[in-house]
Amino acid sequence: MSLFERFRHIAALREEFSRVGDNPFNIVIEEALSATEAVVNGRRTILAGTNNYLGLTFDPRCIAAGCEALEHQGTGTTGSRMANGTYAGHLALERELAQFFGCPSAIVFSTGYLANLGILSTLPGAGTPVLLDADSHASIYDGCRLGNGEVIRFRHNDPADLDRRLGRLGERAAGALIVVEGIYSMLGDQAPLTEIVEVKKRHGAYLVVDEAHSLGVLGTGGRGLAEQVGVADEVDFIVGTFSKSLGAVGGFCVSKWPQLEDVRYAMRPYIFTASSSPAVIESTRMALRILEQEGSALRERLWDNAHRLYRGLLELGFSLGPETSPVVAVTLGRSKETALAVWHQLLARGVYVNLVMPPATPGTNCLLRCSLSAAHSRDQVDRIIDAFSSLREQVAAC
Ligand code: PMP
Repeated sequence: MSLFERFRHIAALREEFSRVGDNPFNIVIEEALSATEAVVNGRRTILAGTNNYLGLTFDPRCIAAGCEALEHQGTGTTGSRMANGTYAGHLALERELAQFFGCPSAIVFSTGYLANLGILSTLPGAGTPVLLDADSHASIYDGCRLGNGEVIRFRHNDPADLDRRLGRLGERAAGALIVVEGIYSMLGDQAPLTEIVEVKKRHGAYLVVDEAHSLGVLGTGGRGLAEQVGVADEVDFIVGTFSKSLGAVGGFCVSKWPQLEDVRYAMRPYIFTASSSPAVIESTRMALRILEQEGSALRERLWDNAHRLYRGLLELGFSLGPETSPVVAVTLGRSKETALAVWHQLLARGVYVNLVMPPATPGTNCLLRCSLSAAHSRDQVDRIIDAFSSLREQVAAC
């Protein structure tokens, strides 16, 4: 049997996609023009499918910080943090993140994916129960697969189900690890964190919150959902990424437990990969400073855009995620062909969104995932709404 036999269904899908037009999972940004626009297929297109929540990718201060690091520190570290890849900038960023979250310890990783891999493959010992929200990001599942914990899924955003499953563990519940996300990336819904914290405390478990999509987006200081609902002191580990609100690439974990420093030296996804380049670290440091100093104004614009798009699409009769969020997901039907056709027509109207198909979606339907930025103008948001409006009938037929 050919080694590639198992991938035949992917080959078939690719062929099917190519008959209709561009492959939505291989779209090329021919030229990035700004935080909100790019040239795609030779056409100026509104980017409504990024995670550039604060719109900082083109901030001149971040660009200047990155350029200066490139010039003075070179293109890359060529090594891992533990071998030869820890530069002064990595430590400075760790100090700044720890300070920002009011924690004694912070670790910087090369991506957010690796941050989850590091924490979830290393913290739980053999057989430690790890309770995952069923809609957890792939990096959370993959981290668990790399480790030796016992994975137990609980129903999405259901603290009662979590409580029941912890209850069944008896004494093992104390010391179990619960993992949730601040904002879920597909539907834009938030975790019921206050209730989850109550459950965690009742059982003596530990709590990890992945604030990848909520950093910069929620909380009076932009620290995420834990800050917004006032439970930051009860969260044991916050994981996050630099690839969304901070406009770069990289990941981090902060903790109120100073012992995180010991865990650092046991995490394979930290040890056995090259560290982030100095340019990335310096642009991230600048973005974090901007988030601290100007975040509330940026958040106001972001949420203004989020409300405008959510309201606009709701009024047009589209079926959306359960709450207003910078991630606005339009639920389609199950037909991949129709979803693909609608996605193409949006692109032809100059609007790029994410096409998401099962099994990447929480349910069995296809989604058009829109995401907004503080940098979108109201006019751009209206153009996104207009593009959807012109496709109402096709979506209804999905
Ligand atoms: N956690 C969540 C919830 C995410 O959505 C993502 C990325 N989409 C990650 C982690 C991984 O982040 P990164 O892109 O920095 O690897």
